[in-house]
Amino acid sequence: MPKIVENVFLDLDYTIVDFDISHAQAIAAVAKECGPEFAETFAGWFQTTLEGRRIRGDDWTKVPGGRQKFEAIAAAFHVELGTGKYLPWSRQLGAVYAQEALGLPVDRAQAEHIGNFYWKRLASNVVVYPDAQKFLKRLRAAGIQFHIFTGSDSHLQWQDGTWVYDPEYSRQVKAERIQPLTGLGLQPASITIGDPIDKPHPEFYEAMMRNATAAAGKPIDPSTAITIGDSHEADVSAPLSSLGFRAGYWLKPGQPSARIDERSMSVGSLNEIPIN
Ligand SMILES: [Mg+2]
Repeated sequence: MPKIVENVFLDLDYTIVDFDISHAQAIAAVAKECGPEFAETFAGWFQTTLEGRRIRGDDWTKVPGGRQKFEAIAAAFHVELGTGKYLPWSRQLGAVYAQEALGLPVDRAQAEHIGNFYWKRLASNVVVYPDAQKFLKRLRAAGIQFHIFTGSDSHLQWQDGTWVYDPEYSRQVKAERIQPLTGLGLQPASITIGDPIDKPHPEFYEAMMRNATAAAGKPIDPSTAITIGDSHEADVSAPLSSLGFRAGYWLKPGQPSARIDERSMSVGSLNEIPIN
């Protein structure tokens, strides 16, 4: 008899990996290198971007600095790239933003260095949630493959007086943060990173299916696949609507489980998700 679930697709940050712990330690390292004021401003850029992109509806109260600061950061990034592109997670641009906000001379080579320094600290300290370790071990014991799909962090390089976005470079840098899973014996069957096309664009999920199919060596039956993550749109509703998976689970840690619609529900822990 075929298994009910054969492939599980999981988001990375705030789903498998406790981003906040590693982020706080990387910010502390930036404070030692560049001073506490710089670190605080850099962390403030990140927090405003994170909370601003999380809001649904029009309640900006959780966003530090509110809508005004969020939009000012986005506008500064557009200007910095000069292309109309918006790469919200680029740590290199975050460092430029902090230099400008503090009235420091803008030194983009130094901003690249600071962004990379932060990232190396983050990548050297990956913390997997205890419930995720348990869940991934359950999957392995049940012979179910798991795949990771995660957004782009738009790593930029300052070269010859211009910012260069090389999707392959950016992807490799982000992949460093997924390697530690292998050390825990939790090797994903495939990894899809949003360079150059990110969630929730339909082409991102097509790439995810191509990667998973190549890893499995056979077509993935969508009716035996589920998707899980902490972003309702990017991790649950968009992949469900473009791929026809069996089910999607919106992770809301500590909250009671609730059905959203026929194919999706919110869960307070990964271990509430039925896999067989
Ligand atoms: Mg996430």
